[in-house]
Amino acid sequence: MLSIKNLKASVDGKEILKGLDLEVKAGEVHAIMGPNGSGKSTLASVLAGKDNYEVTGGQVTFEGKDLLDLSPEDRARSGLFLAFQYPVEIPGVSNINFLKTAMNEMRAYNNLPPIEAKEFLRMMKEKQKLVEFDSALANRSLNEGFSGGEKKRNEIFQLAMLEPKLSILDETDSGLDIDALRIVSRGVNKLRSGKNAFVLITHYQRLLEYIVPDYVHVLWNGQIVKSGTKELALELEEKGYDWLKEDAAAAP
Ligand code: ADP
Ligand code: MG
Ligand code: MG
Repeated sequence: MLSIKNLKASVDGKEILKGLDLEVKAGEVHAIMGPNGSGKSTLASVLAGKDNYEVTGGQVTFEGKDLLDLSPEDRARSGLFLAFQYPVEIPGVSNINFLKTAMNEMRAYNNLPPIEAKEFLRMMKEKQKLVEFDSALANRSLNEGFSGGEKKRNEIFQLAMLEPKLSILDETDSGLDIDALRIVSRGVNKLRSGKNAFVLITHYQRLLEYIVPDYVHVLWNGQIVKSGTKELALELEEKGYDWLKEDAAAAP
């Protein structure tokens, strides 16, 4: 589904990603961990196609397409969902309208007609129930005045409605409280299937107590220096990151 090969990227002329490799297949949940400043959020931003991030080498394919060739909008339309630590607020645009627009853009990209009103309502109901989303939030302006927990709930509801193929959730550093952590993990656990994939970016092992990943990777100084299964996350919790310095030095 996602294949990243030797990805190099700079911000303000400073190289942050220094040859990163990652393969994600349908049905998999990957966790990317790593110390502060290692480049985790930069990776998410580069995949999203954010301004100011310059790709200087390597390839990224998503569902067989060259992702780096697509505009940020087309990346989203083709099924890549990125949730950030600080979601945007869009005053005056209701959650529902935002969702309908996003959904129809995805459908148009796949040569499908706009969703019928009745079908949209049916889906809203079904997904609200699935991820325990309060319908009052759906009618409010997107993220405006939402608490941290409400933003997380909303993010998961968007995921449920848009059914992206690949979701990248950057939860680092923001100190998710325990409620937000539960909301995110319950949502992801309900939505994960053999057809989609998740990349969870997290500074702490805590999130992985709730979502059991298939693979754990350590990002260090712009490269993935170690990969393993969930046991690696426990090892990191116990020993920190410093013991990986030697692995990092040996990485190509
Ligand atoms: P992480 O998410 O792993 O904590 P980041 O990707 O946020 O790490 O940051 C990696 C490095 O890139 C840091 O040294 C950070 O200072 C730098 N960096 C990130 N974004 C910018 C930016 N917009 N301008 C300049 N430097 C940046
Ligand atoms: Mg950081
Ligand atoms: Mg970060």
